Amino acid sequence: MAFENLTSRIQTAMKNLSGKGKVSEGDLDETLREIRLALLEADVNLKIARSFIAQVREKALGAKVLEGLNPSEQIIKIVNDQLTDMMGAQAVPLNKSPKIPTVIMMAGLQGAGKTTTVAKLANKLKNDNHARPLLIAADVYRPAAIEQLQTLGRQLSIPVFDQGTDVDPRQIVKDGLKQADQEKNDYVFIDTAGRLQIDELLMQELKDIEKIAKPDEILLTVDAMTGQNATETAQGFNDALGITGVVLTKLDGDTRGGAALSIREVTGKPIKFVGEGEKVTDLDVFYPDRMASRILGMGDILSLIEKTQKDVDAKQAAAQLQKLQENSFDFNDFLDQLKQVQNMGPMEDMLKMIPGMANNAALAQVQVGPKDFAHMEAIVYSMTPAERLDPELLSPARRRRIAAGSGRPVIDVNKMIKQFKQMRQMMYKFTNGKGGLPAGMEDM
Ligand code: GDP
Repeated sequence: MAFENLTSRIQTAMKNLSGKGKVSEGDLDETLREIRLALLEADVNLKIARSFIAQVREKALGAKVLEGLNPSEQIIKIVNDQLTDMMGAQAVPLNKSPKIPTVIMMAGLQGAGKTTTVAKLANKLKNDNHARPLLIAADVYRPAAIEQLQTLGRQLSIPVFDQGTDVDPRQIVKDGLKQADQEKNDYVFIDTAGRLQIDELLMQELKDIEKIAKPDEILLTVDAMTGQNATETAQGFNDALGITGVVLTKLDGDTRGGAALSIREVTGKPIKFVGEGEKVTDLDVFYPDRMASRILGMGDILSLIEKTQKDVDAKQAAAQLQKLQENSFDFNDFLDQLKQVQNMGPMEDMLKMIPGMANNAALAQVQVGPKDFAHMEAIVYSMTPAERLDPELLSPARRRRIAAGSGRPVIDVNKMIKQFKQMRQMMYKFTNGKGGLPAGMEDM
């Protein structure tokens, strides 16, 4: 998960401030120094880290936070706002042409995730907007790139235009666009070639394709795992080609995340989407404010709710949060929760979006795979209604009965009850943290 390191560094720096009623200018500088180190450690470019700190300092002194109430909280807010601004403040949607088709040209270095992202984006448009995209396979150099796109297209029932590897990519694009016209496709994605490094030939080919296709959007895919190089790549492509947006891939990996902070600042172009896994559904809109909160360890409660909303009512999710706060979360809720998250990726990812959980060591113990879900479900179904409401009823004899009923060993029953209690306790603690529910959720 990206940002963990940055999160913990900033939190340590902030901890020194929180609790202090009065903060001196020296305290402020000490904290800013820590934040600067955290940014550098996360691969944020030095110049950007410096200017970030200078701006936070200026705002903090300008707002006279040192003299006011809760200086540390005010500083956290300033850092949060500054992070948000630096990443572009607002989510920026895909460009759309007034007449069909909208042409989206993809660019990026080999291995950045271009082909995968084409499939993810086309699939998202198809599902969200009933779009009828056509994918043009114009990467004739990377072995198997065309076959990869064809396979993805078949899986998603999205047509793919290709002419093999022996035709010039410029011609492929011309012919592909002709087909899109005939078939009245409303979106066209052009999967272009990448190289291991930016070079003249590649850029010339991309410029030619741009002239032919006149794309409404030139989306650059950048691998977040490449750290500082991601920012340099973005700058290189932007200078040579004039990109319109960025997709930052592999944010699920062990990345330091600095790229998300630097790219907008260096190129002036928005990050529009982030890739968070290899599956075709692992693509999210990039929300700068939510990412800033995530970096600061305030969790990503809005993303959590949005993710949940796809399958369940947000009110239900909020009601569960409320139950957690009141510590009345029972096995029925637990089961509901299990059902909801079953289709939403690993439990761990979900928990990380809850405020304060992002960096929690105990989280490592809550590992729930898809098979475990089925087992846990069976165990809860073998409890009586009274037991589901009150875990304290679960005596050893009852646990043995539940084990027999669910076909699981007693040790599994015990383990699940322990996990349930741990989860409830952790969530209770965090949802009852100093801030309570994040702003905007109180009235849900
Ligand atoms: P291309 O050469 O730019 O077209 O790159 P590909 O689309 O073939 O992707 C290269 C590798 O990165 C593949 O193994 C993808 O599954 C993987 N990949 C792409 N996007 C992501 C992502 O967001 N997260 C993770 N973990 N892997 C990704």
